[in-house]
Amino acid sequence: MIKWRCTLCGECCKQYVPLVLPEDVQRIQSSLHRPMSSFITFYRETDFQGPLDESYQPQLFQTKHGKLVMGLNRVDLEGGEVGCIFVKDNVCSIHSFKPLVCRQYPFQPVDTANINGPFRLMENPCFGRHATDELVPEPPLRKNYILFHQKQDAYLEKIKEWNEDPASQHKDIDDFLQFVGLKWDES
Ligand code: SF4
Ligand code: SF4
Repeated sequence: MIKWRCTLCGECCKQYVPLVLPEDVQRIQSSLHRPMSSFITFYRETDFQGPLDESYQPQLFQTKHGKLVMGLNRVDLEGGEVGCIFVKDNVCSIHSFKPLVCRQYPFQPVDTANINGPFRLMENPCFGRHATDELVPEPPLRKNYILFHQKQDAYLEKIKEWNEDPASQHKDIDDFLQFVGLKWDES
């Protein structure tokens, strides 16, 4: 059991850019009946300075526009803040089908080489905004973590394959999307 409770502060949804997997995109598309063009942005390396998620490097894919990574849009929020397109009044508006990376936050195995072992909170969890007055059982955390990493590993393999093809640096974003089974304007 881990001592943790979400205080619905919304800070994670403001500080991080969720980097999504193709299956996240498809799930959000079909749940909202909206094309991915309405909620996805392709970020450049230079967009990831400051407190934004640093795990973007392996997710960069090359195109004729340079190296890009796929994430959820960021929008202006009330009070002059910036955050995920899906955060409304500090709460996730797509909670039941949100990206796997969001679902496994903010937990990780004590030893990442032993995912069947105990779990703990990540470094600097929740920017200190969480509470510790509830006990969270570990099996669902482990399930979310394993699912996210399995899917992410498969996506990273596809990106590696794409980047190893010298022709990819002359191709467009649409070509990459087709390669990973996505369509920009399809809802
Ligand atoms: S998808 Fe939901 S949980 Fe993830 S960053 Fe956006 S609002 Fe937050
Ligand atoms: S930062 Fe932590 S406490 Fe705040 S909304 Fe996100 S998960 Fe909940």
